[in-house]
Amino acid sequence: MPELPEVETTRRGLAPHLVGRTVVALHIRQPRLRWPIPRELRTQLPGQRIEAIERRAKYLLVHTEPGSALLHLGMSGSLRVLPAATPIGVHDHVDWRLDSGRVLRYTDPRRFGCQLWQPRGEVHPLLAGLGPEPLSDDFDGDLLWTRSRGRAAAVKVFLMDQAIVVGVGNIYASEALFAAGIHPKRAAGSISRTRYARLANEVKRILAYAITRGGTTLRDFISPDGLPGYFEQELFVYGREGEPCKVCGTLIRAIVLGQRSTYYCPRCQR
Ligand SMILES: [Zn+2]
Repeated sequence: MPELPEVETTRRGLAPHLVGRTVVALHIRQPRLRWPIPRELRTQLPGQRIEAIERRAKYLLVHTEPGSALLHLGMSGSLRVLPAATPIGVHDHVDWRLDSGRVLRYTDPRRFGCQLWQPRGEVHPLLAGLGPEPLSDDFDGDLLWTRSRGRAAAVKVFLMDQAIVVGVGNIYASEALFAAGIHPKRAAGSISRTRYARLANEVKRILAYAITRGGTTLRDFISPDGLPGYFEQELFVYGREGEPCKVCGTLIRAIVLGQRSTYYCPRCQR
C-alpha cells in the first residue's frame, strides 16, 4: 500500500509534468473506483490549466481554477505521465490527456483508489477533521503530549489516528516507536512530554528519510518487495518477528494492535 513517502514522491515526480499544463480531455475506461468518479470532475476538469499539485495526508490535490481533483492511490494504484500513444493495459482506468501530448494515466488493479472533485473554496469531507502533516511545524511532541492526556489507547494506535497526525502508516509507526524506545502497547496517556518530543522527532526523521529514498523517477518508486522508499534491510523491527534486534540481540516480537501487525523489541522498548 502506498504510504505518505510514496505519495509525496509521486507528487514530486508528477509536478514538473503537470503544473502549467492544460487537461485537454478525460478518458475514463472504468468509472467504478472506490467511489464512482463524480460528474463534477468529468465536466469541470477538461479545459482547465493545472495550477499546482499538493499533498494532504495520502491524497493528492490537483488544483485548477474551478476546483481540485482529489486523487488517492488506494492499495495498488499508481499515476504515471506517459506518451499519449502508450498502449493501454487492462488496469489503466483513467487517462487525463494533456496539452503536452502526454497523458496522466491512473492504473489500479484493485480499484481501491479514487478520483474525486473538490470545488474551489470547499473542503472535501474526506479531508475534514484530519490532523496536521507530520513533517510540518504543527506536529511536535507537545501536540502528541497534549492530545494524549487521559487516553488509554495503545500509543501505536494513537500515533496512527489520522485525527492526531496524518500519514504515519504501519511501517513507520513501528519503526518510529522502536527508534524512540517506546513500547507500542503503552497507554498513550502515560507517556511523558520528553518521550513524546523524541517520538515526534523520530517520526519526522524516518518519514523524511523515506521520502529521500523514494527515488526521483515515477517508474521506480514502487519496489517489488512492497516497501517502496525504504529498503528492507534498513528496517529495525517491521516484518522481523523472531529475528534478533539489531541493537540488543533480543528476538523481535509481533502482536496485533488495532488490527494491524505490530513489531517491537521487548528489551529496547519500554
Ligand atoms: Zn533491542
